[in-house]
Amino acid sequence: MEDSWELLERECQDCKECALCQTRQHVVFGVGNPQAEILLVGEGPGANEDEQGIPFVGRAGQFLDDMLAIIGLDRTMVYIANIVKCRPPGNRDPLNVEQDACIGYLHRQIALIRPKILICLGRVAAMRLINEKFRITREHGLWHDIDGMRMMAMYHPSALLRDPGKRPETFDDLKSLEKEIEKVCRRTEPHRPWQRLPGDRPDV
Ligand code: SF4
Repeated sequence: MEDSWELLERECQDCKECALCQTRQHVVFGVGNPQAEILLVGEGPGANEDEQGIPFVGRAGQFLDDMLAIIGLDRTMVYIANIVKCRPPGNRDPLNVEQDACIGYLHRQIALIRPKILICLGRVAAMRLINEKFRITREHGLWHDIDGMRMMAMYHPSALLRDPGKRPETFDDLKSLEKEIEKVCRRTEPHRPWQRLPGDRPDV
């Protein structure tokens, strides 16, 4: 049977494939534009996300929005999902057994979206999707060709809130993403109100 967003979300909302179903308030399926050319993947919902059923809300979510805005993107131009759809208690990393149980939903989301670019937000997503030995401190910002997508990892917004010293490197990663979007995305048009055409009059 052909897959669809409705079927996938319904299965996900009813899922009891791992123990995280026992402690969740909401399944956090994903949010954004299902036709997006850019997919962002984090590790799993935190407390705010579990409460609201939406990925990347609260301070980390606001910070992610600010990161996207630096290169003219907003949530209508991307899709945002996680490796696991239910909150690991205490915000611990999702266990391998939980990731194994849940990863099929993300693969189905990828098959429906067919993004050109996939960005892993943080170490856990990068270890799952790029390379199991991935070292985020050394390998963030490097591009990989995997399953027909351009993939890169950046620091997770929560890590950037905890350690502002990592922000300059993330700025460089965002600029690299901006270049990649120009190269491989046809339909994504970042907002660039600060860019003027020759002859534009400056505001006074
Ligand atoms: S984390 Fe994924 S596999 Fe586990 S119960 Fe939630 S939806 Fe199902």
